[in-house]
Amino acid sequence: MSFASLGLADPLLQALATLGYTTPTPVQREAIPLVLKGRDLMAAAQTGTGKTAGFALPLLQRLATEGRAAASNAVRALVLVPTRELAEQVNESFRAYGQHLALRSYAVYGGVSINPQMMKLRKGLDVVVATPGRLLDLHRQNAVKFGQVETLVLDEADRMLDLGFAKELNAIFAALPRRRQTLLFSATFSDAIRSLAGGILADPAVIEASPPNTAARTVKQQVVTVDKKRKPELFCHLLKRRRWGQVLVFVKTRKGVEQLVATLLAQGIAADAIHGDKPQAGRLRALERFKAAEVQVLVATDVAARGLDIDDLPLVVNFDLPIVAEDYIHRIGRTGRAGNRGEALSLVCADEVNLLGAIENLTRQTFQRGEEAGFEPDHRVPPTGPAGQVLSKPKKSKPAKAGGRGAGKGVPGNWVGFDAPAAGAGRRGRQRPGKPAKAGPR
Ligand code: AMP
Repeated sequence: MSFASLGLADPLLQALATLGYTTPTPVQREAIPLVLKGRDLMAAAQTGTGKTAGFALPLLQRLATEGRAAASNAVRALVLVPTRELAEQVNESFRAYGQHLALRSYAVYGGVSINPQMMKLRKGLDVVVATPGRLLDLHRQNAVKFGQVETLVLDEADRMLDLGFAKELNAIFAALPRRRQTLLFSATFSDAIRSLAGGILADPAVIEASPPNTAARTVKQQVVTVDKKRKPELFCHLLKRRRWGQVLVFVKTRKGVEQLVATLLAQGIAADAIHGDKPQAGRLRALERFKAAEVQVLVATDVAARGLDIDDLPLVVNFDLPIVAEDYIHRIGRTGRAGNRGEALSLVCADEVNLLGAIENLTRQTFQRGEEAGFEPDHRVPPTGPAGQVLSKPKKSKPAKAGGRGAGKGVPGNWVGFDAPAAGAGRRGRQRPGKPAKAGPR
């Protein structure tokens, strides 16, 4: 199936050809014709499935062919996203896909000066990609008017709720015109999402591009058990022994992120951090350096890393398991994107057994576990059952195991419990929407 057969017009097809997109992904095949028809949509789609193009392409087409130009401070399509990084990324996609259309799009988010955003909004915009808090600020200051909004998109709606944006979202919904098209994208369909959808969608078409709560099938997922205090050492050991290429690493806390980066830098490994305490410019710079392969290891917290689109990342490491099980699905969605193979490795200590159980329960699988020789945990991680329940309490017992830390000496550097994956995974080049030619004013 081609993009042309989905009803997309030439300027969009040309942009897709330039970007090297030849075949629509499943979510694009389903979403594009429905959005072109003006239907409301409730779509279960993880990051990496091509969902952004699934809504951006038909939206651009509708904006180019229907409706009237945006008046001063008005906006015709609003895309709400949970994080600043995702706002930039989605805006970049709109610009790339719309490079042959005279439409204007822009991203607004907090943590940076509001004045340039107010200036930009003055002439009116076709597409505004926004985080909810900053959008409300702008609205309260009359810098943005909602009267002309034709379409509302909620991207990663589950994450917006997780981040506590429910109040802001409701305030935005209340200020929007009632007659509009609304598209909701979410990696998971929780009860909270269903109830949100019930209030804002009108007779929506429901798409489940990937079964909800199921991690991408193309991602090989493994767990290696280890004592908590030895995680940094094990990480550095695996990085070298398995000759990892670029790695995105998730750590629970900001402090933990900084500590791991310091450890890596001290060992001469190019590493950088993304977390909420870091100014926006520093976060973007870290991401750019990682994308340019100047940095081998990017260490991030969940909030900051949400929505990052890094082409074909071969490996994601969960240095700590996430507190919220759904975050696991988002984390590993950074690899195995758009049908490519990826690998997700979690370093799990005894304290984390309940988190592991919850993730296994959510993803309906029991992970393959292994130990790295020389790093066998003194505090064993109790088994988790097929439904993810913990079968016995974590043992807080003293180590004193024969051989203890050196137990794996007979098989130095060997991976116990599952096959050693291919070493030297580098980045495979696939194209992400490039920097677009500037869209001219209407
Ligand atoms: P998304 O799930 O929207 O974050 O997209 C994931 C990645 O897949 C991005 O790098 C897109 O540029 C890329 N992509 C999306 N659709 C296609 C397609 N039909 N063909 C090739 N790459 C695509």
